Amino acid sequence: MKSFRKELWFEVPTRRAFINITPQVEAALAESKIGEGLCLINAMHISASVFINDDESGLHADFEKWLEKLAPEKPHSQYAHNRGEDNADAHLKRTIMGREVVVAVTDGKLDFGPWEQIFYGEFDGLRRKRVLVKIIGE
Ligand code: ZN
Repeated sequence: MKSFRKELWFEVPTRRAFINITPQVEAALAESKIGEGLCLINAMHISASVFINDDESGLHADFEKWLEKLAPEKPHSQYAHNRGEDNADAHLKRTIMGREVVVAVTDGKLDFGPWEQIFYGEFDGLRRKRVLVKIIGE
């Protein structure tokens, strides 16, 4: 069995954003030379997510609105975590949107269902953060 590891780095210029990272994951898969196996993609930070969904801007606006209803950023003082920090909402949003995804690798390609794309969800940006790609197989 082969294994391959790569970190993808991001510095998002806003507090929150959704970024389609499918091209970077496909590039990592090509680099790995693995044809059959599994690909794990996880955020390495507790205020960011990796998830799979549709690359549709209306849906992304709906995610933002929905997450702000569930865990509004402001007022910062509403959260017990925000003593010397202001990112409690980002931890909660990360928990809702998830830490990682696993995609099957078949014939050297990510074996997606229709419209599936991989996203990095940033909830506390403006600094360098990373995503781990780990691929195992043969
Ligand atoms: Zn925090």
